Amino acid sequence: MTALERRIDGQAILVTGGAGFIGANLCRRLGNDELITEVVVLDDLSSGLASNLEGTKARLVEGTITDPDQLDEVFAGANSVVHLAAKPSVPRSIVDPFSSHRINTDGTFEVLEAARRAGGAQVIFASSSSVYGANPTLPKHVDLAPRPLSPYAAAKLSGESNVLAWRHAYDMPALAFRFFNVFGPLQQAGHAYAAVVPAFIDAALDGRPIPVHGDGSQSRDFTYVDTVADVIATAITERISEPQPVNLAFGSRTDLLGLISVIEDLLGRKLEREHTDPRAGDVPHSQADASRLHELFPQVEPVGLEQGVTATLDWFRTIRRN
Ligand code: NAD
Repeated sequence: MTALERRIDGQAILVTGGAGFIGANLCRRLGNDELITEVVVLDDLSSGLASNLEGTKARLVEGTITDPDQLDEVFAGANSVVHLAAKPSVPRSIVDPFSSHRINTDGTFEVLEAARRAGGAQVIFASSSSVYGANPTLPKHVDLAPRPLSPYAAAKLSGESNVLAWRHAYDMPALAFRFFNVFGPLQQAGHAYAAVVPAFIDAALDGRPIPVHGDGSQSRDFTYVDTVADVIATAITERISEPQPVNLAFGSRTDLLGLISVIEDLLGRKLEREHTDPRAGDVPHSQADASRLHELFPQVEPVGLEQGVTATLDWFRTIRRN
């Protein structure tokens, strides 16, 4: 069957956690797809913002994925669910493992059961490269033994295992993406668990030293959020289902000092750094084996790091002006 034959007309999509960083960028992208007629977001606004959805065609329902009745309501008529709702962040999960388990593990179970009650909607799940954890092999390919180093990573591993088990046991189309370091507009800085790109840009624009945990040699496979949204939108419209997790990153590797250099070049000035202790649960290096991603999504072209950081800097400058 060709990709075109698999396309389905007039789809209704549920995005859990759609008011968050990746979710709101995805909702904007889904609004440009003529095959997608309805987008419903279920979000408890614990870290997302209703204002992130302004200008999209998504309808926000405020509620939690841990409430099965609420899920049945928003699942009505959905062809696919993109399950992004989570308590993200490795360090936050070390401080509060219970919330990580309740939302990331039990919440995913509830979403899967709701998808099953709804007649087998396609489930697209946001897992994480953190599941590779202590496994030192690079690049990370999905046949490697996962070795989670934090409650967050363990919960994501459990979530993706359940998604793929439900796919098999109940014949539901499903896809478990392992996101790597996603960055871009709408990603929040200014809180204790901020991701590295917004934390660095925010400090740079404020004129504060760049906060670096450890010596900055840690490397990551940075992925621009529009690229992630393109891949997910294609997975929906082509109704892709896969028995194994799929790395959603393109096999690049930049260390944190290299990321600072990119920001310095774009700002045209040197940035001061403040090194602090390495963080528990952080993995030293991360880089995806992207071979399966390329096979499933041959048409998706990733936005490069410099271009993505430029767009992210522009967004941070805009919100500072408003
Ligand atoms: P985010 O915090 O911006 O988005 C998460 C959203 O989930 C928020 O809008 C939050 O309000 C919502 N939420 C939390 N608990 C909820 C609940 N009980 N019910 C309903 N909504 C709830 O984070 P993000 O960076 O956009 O991440 C999206 C997904 O991708 C998460 O599952 C995260 O674990 C995963 N992920 C992200 C990255 C990354 O680099 N950003 C990397 C790996 C995996």
